Amino acid sequence: MIATRKRARANQAGAKQPEMMTTTTARRATTRATAVEPIRFQVAMANPGRHEFQVTMRVPALPDRTHVELVFPAWAPGSYMIRDFVRHVYGLRIADERGRPLDGERLDKQRWRVASGGAAFVVSYRVFAFEASVRTSFLDDSHGYWNGTSLFFAVEGETTRPHEVAIDAPRGWHVSTALPRSPAGAHRAATYDELVDSPVEVGTHARLGFRVGRTAFEVALYGRTNADQRRLVAILRQVVQATAAIFGGFPFPRYLFIIHALPVGSGGLEHHASVTMDITGLSFDEEKGYVRFADLAAHEFFHAWNVKRLHDPVLGPFDYTRENYTRMLWFHEGFTDYLANVIILRAGVLDEKGFWRWIAEDWPRYAARPGRLETPLHELSFEAWIKLYKPAENHFNNTVSYYEKGLWVAMALDLELRRATRGRRGLPELFRWLWERAQRREATVTEADVRAAARAVGGRSFDGFFERHVHGTDDVPLPALWRQAGLAVSLAPPWAPEAGESDPVRRVRARSWCGAMIEGRPAGSAERAYVKNVLPGSPADKAGLTYGDELVALDGDRVNATTFAKRLADHPAGRAVTVSYFRRDRLQEARLVVGTSPERKLLLEPSAQAPAEAVAIRRGWLGLGGR
Ligand SMILES: [Zn+2]
Repeated sequence: MIATRKRARANQAGAKQPEMMTTTTARRATTRATAVEPIRFQVAMANPGRHEFQVTMRVPALPDRTHVELVFPAWAPGSYMIRDFVRHVYGLRIADERGRPLDGERLDKQRWRVASGGAAFVVSYRVFAFEASVRTSFLDDSHGYWNGTSLFFAVEGETTRPHEVAIDAPRGWHVSTALPRSPAGAHRAATYDELVDSPVEVGTHARLGFRVGRTAFEVALYGRTNADQRRLVAILRQVVQATAAIFGGFPFPRYLFIIHALPVGSGGLEHHASVTMDITGLSFDEEKGYVRFADLAAHEFFHAWNVKRLHDPVLGPFDYTRENYTRMLWFHEGFTDYLANVIILRAGVLDEKGFWRWIAEDWPRYAARPGRLETPLHELSFEAWIKLYKPAENHFNNTVSYYEKGLWVAMALDLELRRATRGRRGLPELFRWLWERAQRREATVTEADVRAAARAVGGRSFDGFFERHVHGTDDVPLPALWRQAGLAVSLAPPWAPEAGESDPVRRVRARSWCGAMIEGRPAGSAERAYVKNVLPGSPADKAGLTYGDELVALDGDRVNATTFAKRLADHPAGRAVTVSYFRRDRLQEARLVVGTSPERKLLLEPSAQAPAEAVAIRRGWLGLGGR
């Protein structure tokens, strides 16, 4: 846990396996709050144009300690990469309460040892905030935002003490955060974890909201968007209601959506009672923009349970100073990604046809990915810090994201559970079971718990499933499972009439293929064509092309990122052509034999001939209930 890793880890080790740890910690901290003096922060932003937050931290007297260690987080929970946020800290000063400098020895990149002599002291520093992402902090003359791990020191051994933050904002700006306000106006957190788990939006953002039952939902919307704001709020309402139907209500009285509408943005970061979502503000010129928004919101909101309240013991309380290795991200992220799609379907944002279309578009991309069978899911999770978050050129060929593979494994488990229960119970019921077993409070979840839940919900053991798809690398047998759910499934080559291409010339040309994935440069343009990937064993591979080759001509015809595929399709499969390309500024040529495309278009629709058993599975899957 915390930066305060020695003390916190020692606590954990002493107390066997911590169950429902943070809830009890939080409760204890709340009752302590009256007696224990908080660690107090003040955040000022006197000159937003300089993109610096001025932070002052007052550490109360700790009479039993002559020295106190201050630690700055190295990563943000939910985003599994060491980011060394301390690199943005400037002008650190440590002084006693009368302003006299104190000795602060820097022990490593993120840790200072203060000779406080047991007395209270004050730390002041500036944080450069110019990275507009959900996991960092940003400040300019239009708004301020922070995720606490990029702004606040932890005091080693004192993370379960209450923390307060007073925000000194420019005139006319308002504050949105999940942290409650004390009568004195400061925002209060029961622990350091709660402080850094509660992002803050400061500015002139729109404040919207709605209620569902006794729970208040607030929306802080910053930035420029062409979305219908009422519709965004309506979608959030639909999503939270469909999610509450799975879990049987909400585990909080108040929840905040911080939404940043940016020129380009897509991503969210989940917290206990809030979320930050970065969206592309001007992407609402088609229905798809709203579906994408709903999908992101459903994913993040589902995390309020899966990962924030039901989580691997490693994922809370955290050690903020280094990698926290978990083998459960296929469950925390992949299963969440899958259920987001189920939720927006049940919420009515996506219709049934849209649900089939989503699968039909995404599955072939996954099924064509060579790296999907190389590494077991639990291992993909463990190495997130060095692989998914630091992808190399060969990522597509040699690995796969636990989001993507975890999603398909989740769908397969949902369908297997429904096969075992005549459609009555599936993955939503598995989550409900885990939540009820945890008595609707924060609790740790291991793979054994997930297996036990599957057994309880499905009425038999699913251990073989977990062995094959989480520990093994067996392909996910989804086409067979879709058929068992009453769907007609076909995979058509792009030139087949059923693939939907009505132009007869294009149909013929769709056969030509070489297995090179091309990207345009400069980024976003098609001006120059670079090889992004070469599928192993493909014609491009046999021709010797590799990452970063700049393709300039095909049989003497100039190509760019748009025209490369067209010039290739001028030649039928089996024809040898000359590829001209630059490799590190040296012009080269290769002989490439045009191949036949292995791509397949997936066609998925309910089958009129499906037996009643299959129809029951499909109806249960879609949340339509029995008939
Ligand atoms: Zn997620």
